[in-house]
Amino acid sequence: MDKCSFCGRNRKEVDILISGISGFICNECAEQAHEIVNEERKEADKAGDFNPEKSKLLKPREIKDFLDQYIIGQDDAKKILSVAVYNHYKRLGQKVSDDIEIEKSNIILVGETGTGKTLLARTIAKLLHVPFTIVDATVLTEAGYVGEDIESILSRLLQVADYNKPLAEKGIVFIDEIDKIARKGDNPSITRDVSGEGVQQGLLKLLEGSIVNVPPKGGRKHPEQPMVAVDTKNILFICGGAFDGIDKKIAKRLNTQIVGFDRQIKTQTVEKDNLLQYIAPQDLKSFGLIPEIIGRLPVLTYLNPLDKHALRQILTDPKNSITKQYIKLFEMDGIELTFDEDVYEYIVDKAIEFKLGARGLRSICETVMIDAMFNLPSQRKKKFSVTLDFAKEKLEHTDALKLRVA
Ligand code: ADP
Repeated sequence: MDKCSFCGRNRKEVDILISGISGFICNECAEQAHEIVNEERKEADKAGDFNPEKSKLLKPREIKDFLDQYIIGQDDAKKILSVAVYNHYKRLGQKVSDDIEIEKSNIILVGETGTGKTLLARTIAKLLHVPFTIVDATVLTEAGYVGEDIESILSRLLQVADYNKPLAEKGIVFIDEIDKIARKGDNPSITRDVSGEGVQQGLLKLLEGSIVNVPPKGGRKHPEQPMVAVDTKNILFICGGAFDGIDKKIAKRLNTQIVGFDRQIKTQTVEKDNLLQYIAPQDLKSFGLIPEIIGRLPVLTYLNPLDKHALRQILTDPKNSITKQYIKLFEMDGIELTFDEDVYEYIVDKAIEFKLGARGLRSICETVMIDAMFNLPSQRKKKFSVTLDFAKEKLEHTDALKLRVA
């Protein structure tokens, strides 16, 4: 009688018996085998450490090409970031015996909110398949004060790396709103500045590369948990901030240079609209970052404010642009969705009018599309076109305050 070659039960004792060339497998053993394969795969993925020597290291140009698919404009930032990331991973592949040690190149991105700082960092992490986490510098405080300890940054990285320490130690951390921990004023404060300089000092330890004892579950809620010693030497830190008002510091510096001795600069024309492009480390110092932190963020670059043209492109051009996402959603219901050209212009104008920038595009689209998304799946329509009238009607009764900005 035919029997499962794994558990030995015969055809009558099982639901299904599948025959192979020289044996049989029952449904239960097949399912169990499937589970084992899945588990093994998971383990293998976990162990599949990022290894720059083994994995193909993309060249800076290739990194930028990848970024171009997702991010509109911001060429300078993309170029600088591509080189920094390339060098960082070259450094990871460097042999310990080399006498010239390549130093870590943490990055600082300066640009108005919603210009793509987080998107840049996120896209880089996607490309490199390394753990990535975003932390907000405003929640960080010195140990012993209300708020999160600096170490919590690394707890998060450990969590996203599924507690695989070697993998976490090669991850990327994006620290947002770094400008909010600037000390007030250029002079070192006499009194303790809980949210400013103290936090910068704490952060310095991480940026420099040191072994930090991290509570794996984060926070002080689990005092009993054993600490994990995480080495930050190879973690790439990308900091971002709007640095409101830094243009005045840049202008002041440029002015003194122009009035002063530097004739070369005097003959160059300074673009007054976008002073951020001239940003230099000393401007960060004038803003209130301590020199040690600036020293640990050697790659400094800026993002341009998004004009109408850029916003229009953001709506349709990136690989996973907002409108492409709606088209995909409708496609899943068998509905062909199209947008009239003037709808795009209208959405962009509204985003500018409401002063929402790129972040507003999504919430405006959501308001325009919500009724269609609610009704169309239960109708038999095969095509739907978003016209200007339709968009206007949907948005007319919504004011800027009601739009939720992502
Ligand atoms: P920031 O970190 O500078 O405040 P984000 O990167 O979070 O801004 O941008 C917010 C959203 O706006 C992104 O999710 C993205 O949809 C859109 N966006 C902003 N800038 C760009 C850009 N240059 N290209 C494409 N999309 C952008």
